Amino acid sequence: MSAPVLLPGATGLNGSGQQTTLGVMGGGQLGRMFVQAAQAMGYFTVVLDPDVISPAGLVSHYHIKTDYLDEQGLTQLLQRCAAVTTEFENVPAGALVTLGAARPTAPSADAVAIAQDRIKEKAHLARSGVPVAPYAVIESAAQLAAVADDLLPGILKTARLGYDGKGQVRCANRAELAAAWNDLKGVPCVLEQMLPLAAECSVIVARGWDGACVNFAPQLNLHREGILAVTEAYEENMPLALAEKAVAATKKIAKELNYVGVLCVEFFVLQEGSPERAKLGGLVVNEMAPRPHNSGHYTLDACDVSQFELQVRTLAGLPLTQPRQHSASVMLNLLGDLWVDGATPAWDKVLALPGMHLHLYGKLKASKGRKMGHLTVTAATPGQARTTALDAAKILGIAPF
Ligand code: ATP
Ligand code: MG
Repeated sequence: MSAPVLLPGATGLNGSGQQTTLGVMGGGQLGRMFVQAAQAMGYFTVVLDPDVISPAGLVSHYHIKTDYLDEQGLTQLLQRCAAVTTEFENVPAGALVTLGAARPTAPSADAVAIAQDRIKEKAHLARSGVPVAPYAVIESAAQLAAVADDLLPGILKTARLGYDGKGQVRCANRAELAAAWNDLKGVPCVLEQMLPLAAECSVIVARGWDGACVNFAPQLNLHREGILAVTEAYEENMPLALAEKAVAATKKIAKELNYVGVLCVEFFVLQEGSPERAKLGGLVVNEMAPRPHNSGHYTLDACDVSQFELQVRTLAGLPLTQPRQHSASVMLNLLGDLWVDGATPAWDKVLALPGMHLHLYGKLKASKGRKMGHLTVTAATPGQARTTALDAAKILGIAPF
């Protein structure tokens, strides 16, 4: 469906006086930041999320508290809003089909269905001609037995519903692989060869209904225990040739998907001199996210247009302009681990550092590995951004990077 332009603010002021309202499926932190960006531009917002206290629901004009497939909930959402987006890839594709038949819905059910299933995702990436980690699909005992030896050691990943390293098991040999698949209850999985990583990066693009596509420069990402810990965003964060390759691959993936909205593609940079690099090239796609991404949170503070504003613009059919990063930036994720014994971290000390931007998501319970918020440092130079981020990490008890 091509989309009409949905201008923000009240329409029909000399008569009916209605507010243009944008909807989002999911009430997590990504939905919250989408809602905040939409509201800043004058839109009303509606969130659908079954959780009665959700980060996005807490700040939205309207919050529909039903299951994602609840017919009444979806009907209410359609009555309220002029267009719908999603903030996480595990929204049932069926809900997006219903919504897409009635309102501009971006990303589409088709694109989300691909991104939420690693088997479909890898097939799509192969069609797009971008290298992925060597892998095998495991949906049956026969496929398990037929796994090629060179995929081990590897990582067994459930095809669906994984995030932050959940649903993944590292396997050194066949016996561990068989045990891991059994532990995962024999659900459809992919086994990926364990690759020698020099680094990880990601690229975020926004693509409009007319195919116009803009991008942020690649972010350099450090994961700890399968969870994003640090993002470094500045010009010298990786070799230029690699950065250009990553941007071109991401734009190609978006185009092949006929994608509308914000898309993030995560990449592995392979170790120099490794046989895997000789075979696959320097850059391998890990996975994609059909939405803004944790590695793009720095864009709120360090760029003239954020990934969330671009999500609003794509959805509403507004012009997309190429983002410009005005500050070097480092982002630190704030995980629940920091709330040791329930004590509040020393935000006052952290905020005494220059160029520090604190974002907390309004979550009422901290647990290990739970994303509670993030800190973005902006600075004139990469060196200053890193130094300040390391100072903040020290105050908070986050390991240096
Ligand atoms: P996300 O929170 O990004 O959705 P996820 O749970 O989907 O994460 P992946 O991105 O597949 O998980 O993997 C998490 C991390 O595990 C990667 O960022 C990387 O550090 C490591 N990893 C995953 N696959 C491989 C691989 N084939 N070789 C080496 N390391 C890997
Ligand atoms: Mg990932």
